Amino acid sequence: MNELSSDLEPHYATVLARNPGETEFHQAVAEVLESLAPVVRKHPDYLHHAVIERLCEPERQLIFRVPWTDDQGRVQINRAFRVEFNSALGPYKGGLRFHPSVYLGIVKFLGFEQIFKNALTGLPIGGGKGGSDFDPKGRSDNEVMRFCQSLMTELYRHLGEYTDVPAGDIGVGEREIGYLFGQYKRITNRYESGVLTGKGLAYGGSQVRREATGYGTVFFTEQMLASTGSSLSGRRVVVSGSGNVAIYAAQKAAELGAQVVACSDSSGYVVDEAGLDLALLKQVKEVDRARLTAYAAERGSARFVAGGSVWDVPCEVALPCATQNELDDAAALKLVENGVLAVAEGANMPCTPDAVRLFQERSVLFAPGKAANAGGVATSSLEMQQNASRDSWSFEHTEQRLHEIMVGVHERCASAADEYGSPGNYVAGANISSFIQVADAMLALGVV
Ligand code: GLU
Repeated sequence: MNELSSDLEPHYATVLARNPGETEFHQAVAEVLESLAPVVRKHPDYLHHAVIERLCEPERQLIFRVPWTDDQGRVQINRAFRVEFNSALGPYKGGLRFHPSVYLGIVKFLGFEQIFKNALTGLPIGGGKGGSDFDPKGRSDNEVMRFCQSLMTELYRHLGEYTDVPAGDIGVGEREIGYLFGQYKRITNRYESGVLTGKGLAYGGSQVRREATGYGTVFFTEQMLASTGSSLSGRRVVVSGSGNVAIYAAQKAAELGAQVVACSDSSGYVVDEAGLDLALLKQVKEVDRARLTAYAAERGSARFVAGGSVWDVPCEVALPCATQNELDDAAALKLVENGVLAVAEGANMPCTPDAVRLFQERSVLFAPGKAANAGGVATSSLEMQQNASRDSWSFEHTEQRLHEIMVGVHERCASAADEYGSPGNYVAGANISSFIQVADAMLALGVV
């Protein structure tokens, strides 16, 4: 990591000591603290009132057992988490991730990022995150339902539309949110729509929520390119991943005139020089829940490369939309050598710190996830607004609101970066702008 200022170094040392082994959380904290030296110099109050120590310590952390029975009648045990990180700006808000890699350090990194991401949207939402080491891959619908019901049987007591509002993340989509909401409704005997977001349209979901993270990433990229007089039109784009974020990032980029030529999954990547066929990709991934090999088998212009790195495919715009630390310095160098102009993180922290440094040194436009993927949670907040007012908005209106919000996120990052002496540095801008907003609220609320 970069050197921290002497004001901030002890806080980072405390985080390391109190959270041993949680490397992703350490990485997320370091990335924010590295931007804050000019802020605490200008506002020493933040140090005097221990705002940074308080921000790095979650308000509440829940860890619980989730027992469930598989289709063979065997009892299975998973571990689940909810980290309610910061509620200075609103109820805890953030997704649930179901993936075998989930442990406390992953949930804390995601929860910490979420505080700042949510602040950047300008909407009244605090930060939290949760999940489980449950692996939905290969599980039947009934197994997924029983797991979700068991998880909610414990989690419901900690939730509420004014308390904590989960949503999806990796491994948690509309199917899982439906089962979770059904169980919450049954236990509480309340139709409290605003307690979960990412719901299906049939029972209180919002238009555009499914598309929002990917669309938002592309709207941010468009703003970033426009700031240098450029645009997405005619650009060659590569996305990584092939889940919810990747699919809708690819769709919006294509709508704006880009040629999206590659995407990936955990077994390899697909290159499709004719441009990805999004209807086919959706069928394979959303309906059949199959692998990208099935896409390549159906599509003459596509080539599947087993293993390897999707970042070897030359492109002008790279959108990492898979998972944390998927794009390292070697991949970054390859992208730079191939002439990449802009990189925007659709996933949470997909670029390693060395990769980010390399992009910045080589003057590649770089958008950190907490800014570039804020469109998902922003649209969750729009879903909460609709639920609270017992209303539902049209696709066009909701997309327009999302677009305005992403223009606002870009504007906040760009002006904070200018004000604090790092013009064009979206990492600094995102961290500074969101930190000040949360820190000011925390100061106003006193020592709580
Ligand atoms: N999991 C998404 C994120 O990383 C969305 C969270 C939400 O909608 O609450 O921001």
